Amino acid sequence: MKSKPTRQKPDFSKLAQETLAVRAGTRRTAEYQEHSEAMFLTSSFCFDSAELAADGFAHADQGFIYSRFTNPTVSMFQDRLAALEGGEACIATSSGMAAIMTLAMVQLQAGDHVICSRSVFGATIQLFSSILLRFGITTTYVDLSDIASWKAAVQENTKLFYLETPSNPLTEIADIKAISKVAKKANAIFAVDNCFCTPALQKPLALGADVIIHSATKYLDGQGRVVGGAIVGSKEFIMGKVFPFVRTAGPTLSAFNAWVFLKGLETLELRMLQQSANALALAQWLEKQPGVERVFYPGLKSHSQYALAKRQQRAGGAILSFTLKGGKQAAFKLINQTQLCSITANLGDTRTTITHPATTTHCRVASEARKAAGITDGLVRIAVGLENVLDLKNDLISGFKKPSK
Ligand SMILES: *Cc1c(COP(=O)(O)O)cnc(C)c1O
Repeated sequence: MKSKPTRQKPDFSKLAQETLAVRAGTRRTAEYQEHSEAMFLTSSFCFDSAELAADGFAHADQGFIYSRFTNPTVSMFQDRLAALEGGEACIATSSGMAAIMTLAMVQLQAGDHVICSRSVFGATIQLFSSILLRFGITTTYVDLSDIASWKAAVQENTKLFYLETPSNPLTEIADIKAISKVAKKANAIFAVDNCFCTPALQKPLALGADVIIHSATKYLDGQGRVVGGAIVGSKEFIMGKVFPFVRTAGPTLSAFNAWVFLKGLETLELRMLQQSANALALAQWLEKQPGVERVFYPGLKSHSQYALAKRQQRAGGAILSFTLKGGKQAAFKLINQTQLCSITANLGDTRTTITHPATTTHCRVASEARKAAGITDGLVRIAVGLENVLDLKNDLISGFKKPSK
């Protein structure tokens, strides 16, 4: 006969981030007691009777019925990410954009207004400016770091404040605490896309944000494998508004992808700290290279918001950018002579990627607006990975050397 279990469960509210990253959210089946999180690749779940099935449907947010609503592997990822962000609840989505679309769907209706920072992810701008506009939702874009412009943009129908910090690719910083006060006064929900810092480096909820958006595709996976997203916030908002929408509309995360993200979260902090250290070393070195006009990295003393970044973030993050004196020609030459860095627009990988924003990630932005936003033709972005920093410097250096003749 089996003896009754006597061990108590740990009090997760008392545990540190490193512990939560490897322990929070784990569920074990009673039958197998598997140590590592199992991957539940099943579209539905069985009941022992018609009565239990009816009861399950009556409490769809609690048990497991159908994987569009809930799935144990997805739940484990959601609970672990919520614990790391310091949020009460989380719902995972099929991509980062699905998370942003879901936020808009549950928070906005025709006639509502959004205030969004100008430097957000390109597809986010497309979503707000073309798709949501068709449903009668308008958006005002403001400067990320200019509090007065957030205040000035508030309208009677403003329902959502939305930003990303640090910005891509110029690493501008938003003062989350100050903007949260403006949002509160306006009675609007304040959402922060925490993709670049992740909870390992920045905790927007503790600074006054209401909702966190993630593209889990980036650092939560951290190894460039699968696409996914998440929304974190209060139990009332997530379970009351987001869950019913995702259950019905279906932008659900797959169990396989959730399992990959669960494994990613276990090493998130280690990766973020090491990749930030690598980025800082590279940024400091880049500042000294001939032909480099300016380096943008929040961990540099030369960054115009260094003090704010230091206060708000645990480290500078892994994204840096810099402008070359020779414009597009010099940027292309530098990118083409590298052998190690991957020429790809993705970021958040253990492998360093190098990008020319003006002709790739920001090519759909009109040239005037692009230049006004500081995305000049000589700008290069590097998303620093886990390679040895000396190897990265050696990979870049011949692009800075003067031609030999
Ligand atoms: C990539 C990205 C997104 C979109 O996420 P997907 O997973 O590609 O849909 C949103 N915000 C930021 C900051 C991103 O970098």
